[in-house]
Amino acid sequence: MMRIITFIFCISFFSLPVLCQKSKIIVVIDPGHGGADPGHLSSNKSLMAEKELNLIIAKKFGAYIEESLQNVKIIYTRTDDSFPSLNDRVEKANNLKADYFISIHCNANDCKEVHGTESHVHTMKSTKSVSLANEFEKEFKAKAGRHSRGVKDSDDREHSLQVLKYTNMSSVLVECGFLTNENEAKYLNSNNGQDVIASSIFRAFKTVIVKEHPSINFIKPVKVDPNQNVVATNNAAQGAETFAIQIMSSKSPTDTEAQEFKKIGIPVTRNELTTSSVFKYRYTVGTYASKDEAKKDLEKVQLSGFKDAYVIPIE
Ligand SMILES: [Zn+2]
Repeated sequence: MMRIITFIFCISFFSLPVLCQKSKIIVVIDPGHGGADPGHLSSNKSLMAEKELNLIIAKKFGAYIEESLQNVKIIYTRTDDSFPSLNDRVEKANNLKADYFISIHCNANDCKEVHGTESHVHTMKSTKSVSLANEFEKEFKAKAGRHSRGVKDSDDREHSLQVLKYTNMSSVLVECGFLTNENEAKYLNSNNGQDVIASSIFRAFKTVIVKEHPSINFIKPVKVDPNQNVVATNNAAQGAETFAIQIMSSKSPTDTEAQEFKKIGIPVTRNELTTSSVFKYRYTVGTYASKDEAKKDLEKVQLSGFKDAYVIPIE
């Protein structure tokens, strides 16, 4: 009898957690406004309206996920200049039983001096939303070098936001900067600014999902470019294999003199890739005779803000 009880205990003890485990998560990315609702406008009328910037940053964020993560399903509330109602956005996320809802917006203020990022939650009692929001602000400050105005809830705002109040999952509305501040509006209109903001959102998101879902393997195995492999093998055969540290990739070219690269202290090289991926440019630093030599600089590069940098063989 005891043996049977032990057997039943073991079955339930070991199999239940397995049954409950998720193998994938769903994130709903919500570019704010759209269609007839432009959102906030820049003081400089030649710059883009909030609805356009929200969509660009949202898509860049999604592209970062697609490039380096697996087991994450991305659903956008809009991918063009349409306007799903706030109710539609909430319902979509709730019906999908999404794990995260991230709404992307840009801010405005009557005072043109006001600038910086904000991450909004419905209530500070929602600990999961707050930890995601904190992570966004941490990245905006540390990686993007932006002024962080912190995490705010409906008490701070003195009003509720529908997309945060009625969504059932961790939900955060990110304000990427103030379009009424001239410098910030220009920054958000620049390809580099959009990349930096989107990659900060991505890094924060990655940190949180990895922490909250330890049983899911989110990190995509690094695909070896067959052409690159041939080069590396050929060079190795000739005893001339060299290495570099890859710091990032992008869809459109970023200036190698950009401020974000200055902190590394090693000149950055941009390489155009012949690939079917949406990422057409690769950015590397250094040329090293061995992998070990490259690894000596890797930590320094990672500490300068490119946490995911890694060593690659080059021609
Ligand atoms: Zn907005």
